[in-house]
Amino acid sequence: MKFEGKTAVVTGGSRGIGRAVCLELAAGGANVVLCYAGNEAAAQETVRAVEALGAKGLAVRCDVSSAAQVDALVRSAVEAFGRIDILVNNAGVTRDNLIMRMSEEDFDAVIAANLKGAFLCMKAVSRLMLKQRYGRIVNLSSVVGLRGNAGQVNYAASKAGVIGMTKSLARELASRGVTVNAVAPGFIETDMTAALPESARSAAQGSIPMGRLGTPEDVARAVGFLAGDAAAYVTGQVLAVDGGMAM
Ligand code: NAP
Repeated sequence: MKFEGKTAVVTGGSRGIGRAVCLELAAGGANVVLCYAGNEAAAQETVRAVEALGAKGLAVRCDVSSAAQVDALVRSAVEAFGRIDILVNNAGVTRDNLIMRMSEEDFDAVIAANLKGAFLCMKAVSRLMLKQRYGRIVNLSSVVGLRGNAGQVNYAASKAGVIGMTKSLARELASRGVTVNAVAPGFIETDMTAALPESARSAAQGSIPMGRLGTPEDVARAVGFLAGDAAAYVTGQVLAVDGGMAM
């Protein structure tokens, strides 16, 4: 049980990749605190799946772009389990459009959830992890943050920004036993990509050397590696989990 006695906070754990990450960590014995934006039923379903694996789970409603709500999330996790060993910044949104049609509001909303949200969560757990002299932070970036994508100026900026924050915080915390890494998924089958038109999905599939879309579990296993002791000497890295898209 590689996460026995550890507590993990996973943002956006109600669905998709975040849910798979919760189950990966729970299967290793971690207590899992997951947050969600509004989908209470899905969040409680993830908690039940975590508990079915013999781990403890707790769902907290929290908009990661609000500092007050993030602080409350961290307090709830510490009250429930006493410490936070692992933070997975997974919550994310898209509001795609070509730049001529992208509103300022669409830009700000994506930056707020994807970039500021990760910043607030890392800030909120850093003090705890420094005191413990132990921590694992894994941030969800994207192939789009590495390569860009037409129609996703806001999303690409947020995901490239996540990589910059990952490397900067990795340098700040490295000497205290805290690692900070990013995972950059390619095209993964979740609600986020189900919303795309069939033409965009098949075009994306054609650009994947491995010839298939990824699963949430493909990404969760990489997150589990970076969150575990096997990756103790790995920090400031971006691990692409994309079937070869971004090489
Ligand atoms: P998803 O299926 O759309 O799920 C998004 C999750 O984030 C949900 O749990 C949602 O909560 C939560 N969320 C959204 N906004 C939030 C906020 N402001 N505060 C707290 N939670 C919030 O997404 P996904 O496809 O699993 O993606 C997960 C992460 O991987 C994202 O960061 C995404 O950018 C990244 N990623 C995805 C892909 C892909 O192909 N799917 C590729 C590269 C990177 P509710 O359920 O309550 O709405």
